[in-house]
Amino acid sequence: MQLPTFQEIWQDSLQWQPTQTQLDQWEQLYQEIILINRQINLTRITEPQDFWEKHLWDSLAGVIGLDFLRYKDSLKVIDIGTGGGFPGLPIAISFPHWQFTLLDSTRKKINVINLFLEALKLKNCTTFIGRAEDVGHLPEHREMYDLALIRAVGEPSVCAEYVLPFLKLGGIGVLYRGNWQTEEELNLKAALKQLGGKFILVKQFNTPLTQSIRHFIYVKKVAETPYQFPRPVGIPKQQPLG
Ligand code: SAH
Repeated sequence: MQLPTFQEIWQDSLQWQPTQTQLDQWEQLYQEIILINRQINLTRITEPQDFWEKHLWDSLAGVIGLDFLRYKDSLKVIDIGTGGGFPGLPIAISFPHWQFTLLDSTRKKINVINLFLEALKLKNCTTFIGRAEDVGHLPEHREMYDLALIRAVGEPSVCAEYVLPFLKLGGIGVLYRGNWQTEEELNLKAALKQLGGKFILVKQFNTPLTQSIRHFIYVKKVAETPYQFPRPVGIPKQQPLG
């Protein structure tokens, strides 16, 4: 089974197209994931079209076409709760001049990502095992990133508490969501106020193959995050801000 290329869909939906090298690397990543998935359950999404839409297209749609992202610069990026490497890995393949940290609390998942990095010879990614609540306090990670990505890790205000400590002033956080409700937006805005963040934009998409609804929420760091955030392990989920 091979991944579809769908160049015209990339063009129509995001006004962007991957290069042949990127297509080859995505294909290689896909084959590696299918192989490993027989031993370790990394993802339920294994059919080529499903993988293309939910892992490749979705990952890229969160970062492409944003005028507040300086594509040309060498951005420092963190993917928080990256799991099997999403959205970080497909983006790292597509933006080789950005530097990525792929963070997850599960050693098993990070070990697998390390295998992928070696197989694909990806030089712009490093991995880190730890909880966002702890890692967000380490001087080598706190306020060090231009861009922080987070998909399927928790509710928006929890994601905000994980994301904001990692961002430099002026840095951008991207929350990948399915549905998006007014109440979540209110909670997120209240959380951001406490964390030194500002809500900038929601982008809504219908995914190109199955017309599923997707939202990308963009937040910006406008003030230093107070030292008490993130709170100790588990607290952000148990007592979400907002
Ligand atoms: N982002 C991936 C994986 C989502 S599953 C995707 O969209 O496919 C959620 C992942 O977040 C799991 O791998 C889990 O180990 C990790 N995770 C959950 N809480 C975390 C925390 N506090 N710090 C770091 N990683 C966390």
